[in-house]
Amino acid sequence: MQTITVKFGGTSLASASQIEKAAAIIRSDPARRFVVASAPGKRTPDDTKVTDLLYRCHDAAEAGEDFSGILGQIGARFGDIVRELGIGFDLESELAAIRAHLETAPNRDYMASRGEYLGSKILAAYLGFPFVDAAEMIRFRADGFLDAGYTDRTMRARLGELDCAVVPGFYGAFPDGTVHTFSRGGSDVTGALVALATGSELYENWTDVSGMLSADPRIVANPRVIDYITYTELRELSYMGASVLHEDAVFPVRKAGIPINIRNTNRPEDPGTMIVAALPASAHRRTVTGIAGKQGFSSIHIEKAMMNAEIGFVANVLRIFADMGVSIEHCPSGIDTVSVVVNTAAFAPHREEILRRIRRDLEPDVITVEDDLALIAVVGQGMVYSKGTAARVFGALYSADVNIRMIDQGSSELNIIVSVEDGDYAHALRSIYSAMEGLMK
Ligand code: ASP
Repeated sequence: MQTITVKFGGTSLASASQIEKAAAIIRSDPARRFVVASAPGKRTPDDTKVTDLLYRCHDAAEAGEDFSGILGQIGARFGDIVRELGIGFDLESELAAIRAHLETAPNRDYMASRGEYLGSKILAAYLGFPFVDAAEMIRFRADGFLDAGYTDRTMRARLGELDCAVVPGFYGAFPDGTVHTFSRGGSDVTGALVALATGSELYENWTDVSGMLSADPRIVANPRVIDYITYTELRELSYMGASVLHEDAVFPVRKAGIPINIRNTNRPEDPGTMIVAALPASAHRRTVTGIAGKQGFSSIHIEKAMMNAEIGFVANVLRIFADMGVSIEHCPSGIDTVSVVVNTAAFAPHREEILRRIRRDLEPDVITVEDDLALIAVVGQGMVYSKGTAARVFGALYSADVNIRMIDQGSSELNIIVSVEDGDYAHALRSIYSAMEGLMK
């Protein structure tokens, strides 16, 4: 029997009509046997996610304030869904249990998890699927990290008995049964764990966009949807600010070679984006997969005559940053120069001490700091085999009259990273995108 694990995000389950769309998608393919659900999300852009209401409700209870109003709002959201779906569901006793919890010892993670818990129970009732609580299967260690071995064994045993199931996303439990959540957006991780444990051939992640975009749509108008992307390219683009999946969702399925398909619940006919270990032979080879960027970087530029002859110079510079707990983004070097690019927010609290130590220990001729820099990464596995990509990037920036402050090409030839002034960021990104568009087809 073929198996697909499907995970639906908050907007896909925000109302009865969205749940009906999700259910139609599930029913249209019998392989879609295991369903992971997020809590109901926003119905409109200025709506509030159920998870946020639950956090607020907990915080009010903990502060000894009246939480009945917020609990009432949460109850009304689920009440509307149950009524509009026309199912028999004992919402009253579920809400009474939550109220009792709040009145005794409110636990923040437990409260946050109730959105996924209740939403999944309702979805299971609507689909006629068994509900299996994630708290029975997903185990966290005392230090808060996932106990991956225990979780996988327990899930395999529990879900292996079933033909289909709905599992709530976002949470699990400590060995004593206390509920604990992943970080925000963590239902993606639950989906990956279920896909792995059920031996799924595919992990479908249903959301409200038709896949991953090749550039930030707030900056570039109508960027192309990426059809195929490798896990490595995804990592590069996500690190540089493109967000599509919770970071921790990739590792479990990547190891098992399970592809992830990002799909749109509102446009199920769109193929979405396939995230794969290696491009299938049938996939079209393009040079560039996507472009992403981030603002808010600083570059510390150090010059010293005969730096190249001083063994360990760069290592000593880097050690000073490491000792201060500041992680380094890039470190381009010349013969007598080295620059260290760091996130400004992480660097700022240690700025004076780092500069003082560099001056004291390394006695540079010149040390300057430049703030307000942005980094733009052009990512694509195809760049290894093609000529002229870098020339196009630099040509585009030259024509757009943007000054390049730094250039770095990763040793994997998977990316070209340029740094520009923050003020040039959007303009530079758009110029690079239009010069690269032809290579993304
Ligand atoms: N409901 C949780 C959140 O809003 C988890 C999720 O949707 O993945 O972050």
